[in-house]
Amino acid sequence: MAKRIWLDGKLVDSQQACIHVFDHGVLYGDGVFEGLRQYAGRVFKLDEHLRRLFDSAKSIRLPIPYSREQLAQAINETTAANELTDSYIRLVVTRGLGALGISPLNCAKPTVVIIADTIKMYSEETYRSGMAIITASTIRTSPAALSPKIKSLNYLNNIMAKWEAIDAGVSEAVMLNQHGYVCECTADNIFIVRDGVVFTPPEESGILLGITRGTVIELAARNEIQVRQVNLTRHDLYTADECFLTGTGAEIVPVTSIDRRAVGDGYVGPVTRLLTDAFRQEVRTPAASPIAAGV
Ligand code: PMP
Repeated sequence: MAKRIWLDGKLVDSQQACIHVFDHGVLYGDGVFEGLRQYAGRVFKLDEHLRRLFDSAKSIRLPIPYSREQLAQAINETTAANELTDSYIRLVVTRGLGALGISPLNCAKPTVVIIADTIKMYSEETYRSGMAIITASTIRTSPAALSPKIKSLNYLNNIMAKWEAIDAGVSEAVMLNQHGYVCECTADNIFIVRDGVVFTPPEESGILLGITRGTVIELAARNEIQVRQVNLTRHDLYTADECFLTGTGAEIVPVTSIDRRAVGDGYVGPVTRLLTDAFRQEVRTPAASPIAAGV
């Protein structure tokens, strides 16, 4: 477990890193967060993550009491305090300490937490041989209710789908939207490959715009692999040659079975392998970050 946690501007022992029971993050899931990854001492796509955090916060009218530069610095302090160079970083901003009652006006100051720790989402065997997933009957929150672009502290919709995966004895569940089109898994975006072309649901399907998703789209273009962001149905999943999921924690994880049907020939396919290799190389390549450089 992480030794030191960054809490409201100070590094504290993890035993002392507590959130008040009247914090609206606890009472109402009122807040936003980011999951980031540090590889070889560098935080991957730091600027994109901070940008998404500030967009999520702005969308729910939550003023973050630090600048992007200050948060970048705080992330570095947290990884250094835990002597980590390869880590998973969780950055959480809640509405803060309030009173019983939903009004955000009860909360004077947001609570900001940074945790840096190690993470292993799936076994080596899963990355080598692929995993089984199902399609869930729980549909993804409609953008008309709450935009899935907001990475909020309220994951109940996804957790209900995760229960379906657990009940089915698999690791993940794909959620469809209210029109029956494929959205995303409970904490990952989804891609399929058919005849060498990569397909992934578009922004309008109602997904979190994953930063790993964006990286994979870029890497595919760089490798002259066509990517189409179009609505997909269950039929498209069942008839795909390959399938994989993307996320900061999971990275790229191959899927070889959906609803008990083998994807393609049931083995991890060549496009998934190529993109996984390209991704592994990319995360270790230094990228210019104006924020990390304090510009
Ligand atoms: N969709 C959901 C619902 C998520 O929670 C996440 C993050 N775990 C993703 C997609 C992937 O996003 P990213 O690549 O930015 O981690």
